[in-house]
Formats: sequence, C-alpha cells, structure tokens
Amino acid sequence: MIGILGGTFDPVHFGHLRTALDVQQQLGLAQVRLIPLRDPPHRGTPALDAKQRLSLLQAAVADAPEFSVDTRELERDGKSYTLDTLQSLKSEQPSRTLCLLLGSDAFRQFPDWHRPREILELAHLVVMQRPGEADPAHYPERITHQAERLATRQAGLILPLQVTQLEISATAIRGMLRQGRSPRFLLPDPVLRLIRQRGLYLDD
Ligand code: ATP
Repeated sequence: MIGILGGTFDPVHFGHLRTALDVQQQLGLAQVRLIPLRDPPHRGTPALDAKQRLSLLQAAVADAPEFSVDTRELERDGKSYTLDTLQSLKSEQPSRTLCLLLGSDAFRQFPDWHRPREILELAHLVVMQRPGEADPAHYPERITHQAERLATRQAGLILPLQVTQLEISATAIRGMLRQGRSPRFLLPDPVLRLIRQRGLYLDD
C-alpha cells in the first residue's frame, strides 16, 4: 500500500510532513507520495509557480526515505483532478493499493469533488483527525476503524485516523515572511533556506 498526499505545498511545512509520517507509520505504508497540484480546482492561484513549489518540496524530503515527490500533476495541462491522478497511478501499478490522505476539513468537501464515487473505486481514504473528533459524516457504510481491513480490499474504505495536531498553515507562513517575521521551526530548515536565498513570499 502507498499513501498519496496532494496539496499546493505553498510552501510545504511540518503540518503536512508530520501528519503524513504518522499515517505512514500507523499503516506501515511502503511510502507516501507527495503530489503538488499545478492548478487547484477549488482555490485561487498559488503564490509561487509550480517549479518553485516543487523545488521546496524536494528539499523538504531529500533525506526522508518514507516520502517521494511525484510530479505527474505538474506535467498535466488543465485542472488537477485527483481522479486523473489515481487512474494514472493505477495504470502504472494495477496491483498496488492506494490510500488517499485527507484532512477532516478537506473530507467535508469531498462529495463536491470531481466524481467522488469513482475516486472511491480506485483508492481507500484515510481521514486525518483530531483526538476526540467525531467520525466523518459522509459515506457511513464505508467507514472502518480497523486499519488492517485496508489490506483486504483494493479500494473503497474510509479510515479515520488520529494524527499529531500542528496548528500550522501555509497561509500563516506566507504572512510571516511578508511581514519580515521568522517562520522557523514551522517548516524544515532547508526549505526556509531556499525561501530566503530566492527572496520568495516577500510580496502579495
Ligand atoms: P493554506 O494555508 O494555503 O490553505 P495548507 O498548508 O493548509 O495551505 P495544502 O498545501 O493545500 O494547504 O494542504 C495539503 C493537505 O495537507 C490538505 O489535505 C490539508 O488538509 C493538509 N494539511 C495542511 N496543513 C495541515 C496541518 N497543519 N495539519 C494536518 N494536515 C494539514
């Protein structure tokens, strides 16, 4: 099984990395693929272009063998739909079980995504939750609390999983940089070094 975490990563921070590692460790995933979006369907244009966001992401995980960076959405024209990404991963490795990692906030919007039912035919969903948070509301018949069940089917289950809570957002980090404040210890040092060297995120 592999995990998939899509995002704008504008920039990548410890909120992304620690939670993805929590899931990788709890489920024993062979790896987690971080997949930067080129053109997010549900939000505005990222502050940095795709090439810059990608190089920050690669710097973040250069010495983390649990992660790999997958550039397929950056190479594809048009909106970045998760369904297209899953179909493309599946055609490369049909026997590999895919687990799509989502924050519980993101999961609340999931029924409005492009063809959610087809996504569930290709992958399991792992919904990353806060301690004590109630089960996600959608698709109750698919929810399981037994992680080992994911290995018994190729797709279609929804596993709520508790992960480390880090109140970090890329928006807040960009705000700090714009105001000349340091976001150190919220994101990996090599990422911050590149941001400073290149003078990124200094204006709106
Ligand atoms: P922004 O502040 O610009 O919205 P973000 O970091 O929240 O940025 P993305 O880079 O698009 O947004 O996030 C990708 C994925 O990582 C999403 O599924 C999101 O729910 C999750 N994520 C983001 N920040 C955290 C965090 N602090 N803890 C856990 N998951 C997070």
